Amino acid sequence: REKLLEIKDLKKHFPMDSKTALKAVDGISFDIYRGETFGLVGESGCGKSTAGRTILRLYEASNGEVDFQGDDVHGKKSSKELKKFNRSMQMIFQDPYASLNPRMTVKDIIAEGIDIHGLAKSKQERLKRVNELLETVGLNQEHGNRYPHEFSGGQRQRIGIARALAVDPEFIVADEPISALDVSIQAQVVNLLKKLQEERGLTYLFIAHDLSMVKHISDRVGVMYLGKMAEVASSDDLYHEPLHPYTQALLSAIPISDPEVERSRERIVIEGDVPSPIAPPTGCRFRTRCPLAMDVCAKVEPEWQEYTKDHWVACHLYNENYNDEHKAREAVQ
Ligand code: SF4
Ligand code: MG
Repeated sequence: REKLLEIKDLKKHFPMDSKTALKAVDGISFDIYRGETFGLVGESGCGKSTAGRTILRLYEASNGEVDFQGDDVHGKKSSKELKKFNRSMQMIFQDPYASLNPRMTVKDIIAEGIDIHGLAKSKQERLKRVNELLETVGLNQEHGNRYPHEFSGGQRQRIGIARALAVDPEFIVADEPISALDVSIQAQVVNLLKKLQEERGLTYLFIAHDLSMVKHISDRVGVMYLGKMAEVASSDDLYHEPLHPYTQALLSAIPISDPEVERSRERIVIEGDVPSPIAPPTGCRFRTRCPLAMDVCAKVEPEWQEYTKDHWVACHLYNENYNDEHKAREAVQ
């Protein structure tokens, strides 16, 4: 396995005033391997979109590193180096309509990256590339002369995918690419993304708000809560042996009709709202809603640890020094 990206203690804070900041992403670390789909999951407002954008350098990082093939994306770069990154790393947006310029033809939208990076030597070559891309995503040449509003949601997402592919990227952040689409169309877009991954060896960071959505496409999954990573594991491990109480709760909320999810666990209901990312709880951020919270959880922030091989978690239940309280409670029950 080759690490394509290493994300190290990445933070993105948005200042509110001189004293406060919205800590959208507050120190996350994980790797993304070449050719895999890494699913990033969490409730809305947990920072997953901000994480995706900061990884792509659409936002400047407040702290930390994003190493792409060993080179920090956020480090000082010449404009030539920046261009190289912009070409290698692309984004597919949640709302394809909002991300497509309504006054441009589909042809010109798709060709934007080709023009910026000078990837076509002539008008004919440019058109040839655009037509190939249209076909690749299941559209046809004639569609190139039309405008975004003439297309359905699913077709617009195909246009967004063609635009991302135009510069031959290696890594794509797909930010809830199917959430806004009809259920009947979702599978088509997912299948297209999978096909493209196989053909082109693409690596995806696939952002979604619930675990059932990323289950079938992700090799590994990361669960975010309030700007922090709660757990990262292979899809198999995460779905069958979730460690973090938050992951367990998210999984127990997936409808029972899903036969692959183990049902031996009781349903865990998390109560209350997600606290504000401006003033997150001390200690463990999940403690205000965690059914297993201990005294230590308010005082000490759980460390991000590789608990078993390739299975990362941030929770005191998996720390020998802190889980006595939990064990004692279990013994009484
Ligand atoms: Fe729950 Fe404590 Fe673990 Fe946080 S550290 S998830 S509050 S048990
Ligand atoms: Mg979002």
